[in-house]
Formats: sequence, structure tokens, C-alpha cells
Amino acid sequence: MPLSDLSFTSDEVQALADTYRSGWLSQGPKVEAFEAAFAEYLGSPHAVAVSSATAALQLICCALGLGAGDEVLLPSLTFAASAAAVFHTGATPVFLDIAGLQRPWLAAETVERALSPRTRAIVNVAYAGHPGESLALRELAQAHGVGMIEDAAHALGTRVDGRHVGTIGTAGAFSFFANKNMALGEGGMLVTGDPQLARTARLLRSHGLSAGTWSRHRGNDVDYDVLAAGFNFRLDEARAALGLLRLRRLDEDNRRRLAAAQAYARALRSVNGVRAAIDWGSPGTHAVHIYPLLVDGGLERSAFRAQLRARGVQTSVHYPPLHLTKAFAAPDRAPLELTEEYARRTVSIPLYQTITAAQQDHVVEAIKAACLALTP
Ligand SMILES: *Cc1c(COP(=O)(O)O)cnc(C)c1O
Repeated sequence: MPLSDLSFTSDEVQALADTYRSGWLSQGPKVEAFEAAFAEYLGSPHAVAVSSATAALQLICCALGLGAGDEVLLPSLTFAASAAAVFHTGATPVFLDIAGLQRPWLAAETVERALSPRTRAIVNVAYAGHPGESLALRELAQAHGVGMIEDAAHALGTRVDGRHVGTIGTAGAFSFFANKNMALGEGGMLVTGDPQLARTARLLRSHGLSAGTWSRHRGNDVDYDVLAAGFNFRLDEARAALGLLRLRRLDEDNRRRLAAAQAYARALRSVNGVRAAIDWGSPGTHAVHIYPLLVDGGLERSAFRAQLRARGVQTSVHYPPLHLTKAFAAPDRAPLELTEEYARRTVSIPLYQTITAAQQDHVVEAIKAACLALTP
């Protein structure tokens, strides 16, 4: 039982083959069409296709003009990329605690207490695909005149109050990495309502050039100028062609993930030794990306994971807290107690859109057996 699994339709594979036969592989008309479809799906004025969510975060940080002396508030319980994007601008990532053991996301209250005159932005991570306190954070960011960056890598398709996560703040970043809900292999999307931010992102994703190769290929421009020092963060045509098709089944894929999450919640409710880390019955539409559990305090997580592994069930930990990693350690700061306890006790179990009831039964039986074996 792998943690995540992939499936592609024959139409999707065909779209890839057609693109490779078309004679045009780099950013061109399929990328444009994918951006338009993505913007429409999210109800976002602008969507900029890029090579990864990390690239999208990096471009957002650059477009916001972050630099040395600036502080950006973000959860410690996230993937390394959320902080690296901030770090590479010269700004300082300031790690904050989660709202609670069963609310593993930023609380607006925590963020408000951490605001300083140096704070330029907040990065909200929609952990596991849950919107968390996105709406309250937007109000807070607006009231204090700081940017709100949404790391929505887990949350493509999550809606709260009728709005898509990723379109709530200043700008959002989505991932199409191979284990994400809409896997293309690699790839990402930056979305924003700010036309200037979108323009800057488009410029910087392709070396800061005034005209791209597709435009020159069509004869629109013969020369280019370098308007800014940029990056190569482009998405290619094949992935865009696949993305166009996968977007059409995204809501259905997410419905299956949510149904599987609710089935786990029902099956595990009465099991002594573990509990669900997130209540997926809460209002909103959820793109459940991972299914994290909390093992009880008295139960050793590594032994629990070994028990599951012995029964053929892969598990993972989302995440080792960044403030305790070598790259991002900040020894002079106070401990983040909830984050540290959560990170000691959390275990993610297999979840994907094609998981079957029989596979989920197998996981649940393995968990029951592990709990029995390990409870004194
Ligand atoms: C996967 C992930 C990223 C990075 O996405 P890439 O497309 O692989 O760059 C960033 N943040 C979070 C929370 C993620 O899970």
C-alpha cells in the first residue's frame, strides 16, 4: 500500500504523445490555454504557469520586493520550500506555532501577536488541503498592510466561503508535483488578482526577456531586451496539455479523496491509540491531500510505523518542523510546543483518489493490529 498512487486515462497519455509529435515543446499555446482554464476554474484574474510551486513562491516573494531586513511569518509545520522561497530573497522566515494538535495550521491570533514593524508578509499553508484560518488571515493581512502569500500546494480545489484557497490572499502557489492531487510530474501555478504582480511573474519566469521564443517563432518579435534579472521557471507544453485534461476531473478526484478521508474517520473513531488530526467534516469543499493521524502520547511513533510497514502499509511524516532543521534553525527563539508535539506524534497513511474500500480496510486493520501490539 503506497502512500499515494497515480492513474492516467488513455486520452491523457494521447495528449502527451500528440504534443511531442506537434513539433513545439517549450512554453507556447498549450501553456496559454492551461493558464486560461486554470484561472477560470479558480475564478482568479491571473494564472501564471511555472515549473514548480517552489518557483511560484519564489516569484511571489520577488514580486513583493522582499529583501534583507524584512520578516515573513509562516508555520514551521510545512515543507522546506515555503521557507526557502523567503530565504532566497534575503528576508528572514519567522516560524510560528500551529493553532492546535487537531488544527495543524496558523491561527490568526498567533500571527497577530508575531507581527512586527519588519513584517512584510504572511505565508499561509493550507495544510493537508484544509483552509485553516485563511479568511481571518486575509483580514489581518489587509488590516496591517502586509502581503498574504498562500502556499496552496496541498489545496488545489479547496473552497471556503465560495472562494478557492489560493485566491484569498495577495497571491497563491499550486504544485503539480508527482504526489500532489493534480500530478503532472513537475509544474506549478501562480495565481493572483494583482495585474502588476502577474506581469512581474511572467517577466521573471523566463529570464526577464521582453519577448519569448513562442512569440519570436510566430514572427511577432525579432529581438528582445533583458528587462530584469530573471529565472528559467517555465512549464512545458506536454505538461500543460496533460494539465488541461486533468483539471476537468479534479473536482471528481477530490470528491473521492474526501469520501476516502471520511471513511477512514468512521473506521478509526473507536480505535484506541490513534485519532484523526483533522476533522474533514467541517464546512467547505476539501482537496484532501494527505491523511495525517496522531498516535497517542504513550505510543511510540517509530514502532507504530514499523508495525504498519511490516503489514505492507507505507507511512510518512508531514513534516519535520522547519525551525528544528539544520538550514532553518533559530536557536534564539522560543520553542514551538504544539508544532513539536504534533511533529512527534503525526503519521500520514495512504490516501489517493483511486484507493478502494478493500485497500482502506487493509490499512485500518493494520492500524488496529499495531495499536493492540503496542498498547501496554
Ligand atoms: C509540494 C510542496 C511544495 C513544493 O511544490 P513543488 O511543486 O514540488 O515545488 C511547497 N509547499 C508545500 C506545502 C508542498 O507540499
